[in-house]
Amino acid sequence: MQMGAMQDFELRVMRLLDHVAREHPTREVVTRWADGRETRNDWAGIHRNARKLAQRLVKWGINPGDRVATLAMNHEHHLTSWYGAMGMGGVIHTINPRLFDEQLIYIANHAEDRVLFYDKQFQPLVDRLKPEWTSIERYVVFDDLGPDGFQALLDAEDGDYAWYEGPEREPCMICYTSGTTGNPKGVLYEHRSTVLHAMHAAEPWVMGLSASDVILPIVPMFHAAAWGLPFAGALAGAKFVYSQTNDAAVLCELMNSEKVTIGSGVPTVWLAMFQHMDATGEEPRFLRQITVGGSAAPRAMLARFMDMGIKPLHLWGMTETSPVATALAPGPGWGDLTRDAQLDIVCKQGSIPFGVELRIVDDEGTELPRDGETSGRLQIRGPWVVKRYFKAEQDAVDAGGWFDTGDVAVLHPDGTMQITDRSKDVIKSGGEWISSVDLENAAVGCPGVGEAAAIGVYHPKWDERPLLLVVRKPGSAVTPQEITQHLTQHVAKWWLPDEILFVDDLPHTATGKLLKTVLREQYKDYKLATAA
Ligand code: AMP
Repeated sequence: MQMGAMQDFELRVMRLLDHVAREHPTREVVTRWADGRETRNDWAGIHRNARKLAQRLVKWGINPGDRVATLAMNHEHHLTSWYGAMGMGGVIHTINPRLFDEQLIYIANHAEDRVLFYDKQFQPLVDRLKPEWTSIERYVVFDDLGPDGFQALLDAEDGDYAWYEGPEREPCMICYTSGTTGNPKGVLYEHRSTVLHAMHAAEPWVMGLSASDVILPIVPMFHAAAWGLPFAGALAGAKFVYSQTNDAAVLCELMNSEKVTIGSGVPTVWLAMFQHMDATGEEPRFLRQITVGGSAAPRAMLARFMDMGIKPLHLWGMTETSPVATALAPGPGWGDLTRDAQLDIVCKQGSIPFGVELRIVDDEGTELPRDGETSGRLQIRGPWVVKRYFKAEQDAVDAGGWFDTGDVAVLHPDGTMQITDRSKDVIKSGGEWISSVDLENAAVGCPGVGEAAAIGVYHPKWDERPLLLVVRKPGSAVTPQEITQHLTQHVAKWWLPDEILFVDDLPHTATGKLLKTVLREQYKDYKLATAA
C-alpha cells in the first residue's frame, strides 16, 4: 500500500526542550542548593546550557549511544545534564545513590558509563567506588563552583551547537530497577517512548499539567526519571522549583515563596511534610495537586489532602513503564459522590488512560475477569513499557507483548485498578490469596504498632498461613491479642495471622520498601503452633 503523505517528524526528546525554550523561554527553573544558595534560571537558559554541555561531551569524544551517568539530587544542573547528554545523542544514566555498593558497582560497569556528574555530598561514595568502576573516564562535580566544576565547564563553551539527529527509536536514557532479588536490570528508554510518555503524563486525566503550573518534584531524578516530570513539565511550559535537600521545612518554605501548585513524592515524603505542618502550623498555601506513588498512599493521607482542598493524584507505575501508567481520573458522577465514596476511589491506583493496556491473569496465564473481586497477576503493554532489559538475551514480554509487573491487582468494573500486593509476597492459603499489604496496613492502624510485615510460612494443611512481624512503637506494650482484635475489624477472619511476633526492626530496600525476601529466608523453617 502507498504510505500516507504527512511530514517526517521524529519524536525526539530535544523537540520538547526546543518547544519550551521557544514558547515559554522566561518560565523559571529555580534551585535551592543544599548550602542555602538559590539560583534562578529559565528554560531559555537550560536550552543554552544543554547546548554547551553537548558541545563539551563531543569534545571529550563521547559518541552517540554512549552512557553519561549522574549521581545527584534535584537541581538545574542535573536537568541540564539530561538534556545536554541526550542532545548529542548520548544516553543519560541516573544512578540511585541509595543503592548498596555492590549494586552501584554493577550498574555503572554494566551500563559502561563513560562520564559521571555528581553532587559533592556523594564524594565519599565516589572515592570508595572509583577503583571498582572500570569504564568511567571523567568525573565532574555539579556543585563545585571552582575551575573544575560543572559551571566552569559550561562557561568555557559558546553553545553554538545543533542537536544530533537520528531515528526516534534510538535510546535516550537508562534507569536500573532496584530489584530485591538478583542484579538490578536496566530499562532503556527511547526518544519516542519518552516523548509519548510525556504527552500521556501531561494529559488532563493523568497529571493535567499546564503553563500556569509551578512544579516541585520531590521525587528524586534518579527514581524512575522523576516520574517523567522533566519531560512532561517542559512539554507543558511549567515553571520548576528544585531543592537539593528533602528537608520538609525547606520544601514548605519554597512551596510558598515560589507559589508551587504541584508537588510530587512518595508517601513518606508527605508524612514528613505533615509532621512539619503539625509542629509549626505552616502549610503549603498554593498547592492545587500533589502526586503520590511508588507505594500505596495511606487513606488518612489522601483524606487530609482532600480536606485541604488539594487534589491527591494517586498514581501507579514502575521503572519498566517509564514510569507513569495509571492515575486517579474522576469519572462520570464524581461530584455527586460522598467524600467517603470519593476516597474509596482515590485510594485505588487509578484509571487506565489511552496507551496503557492492563489485564490480570492467574498463575497459568489465563485472563481473569474485571469484576472488582478477583485478584491476579497484573500485566501491562504499551508504547512506553519495557520490551527487553538492557543487554538481556530474551524479551521481558510474552508472545502477546504483555509484561508481567510482579504486582497483584484487582480490576474494577468502573475501570479503576487496585494493587493488592506483590506477586512474590502474596500469601497463598488453601488456594486463595491473602494480601500481605492489606494485613500490614490494617496492623499499622492499631495503636502501638510502629511497623508490620506479613509473610507466608509453611502450613501442612493450608500450604501457607500468615505470620505477622511487628515493631512496637517506642514505649508501647501492645499485645498480639490487641492486634488481632484490631485486625478483625478490617480483614476477613481467615486472613488473620496464625501468629504475631515482635521484632526490633525490619529490613528495607534502598528505596525504603520492606525486604520480604530476607524475612522469608529468615522464617522459612518457622513452625507455626497451628501446624502441629
Ligand atoms: P519502582 O520501579 O522502584 O518505581 O517500583 C515500582 C513498584 O512500586 C510497582 O511495581 C509497585 O509494586 C509499587 N508501586 C508504585 N506505585 C504504587 C502505588 N500507587 N500503590 C502501590 N504500589 C505502588
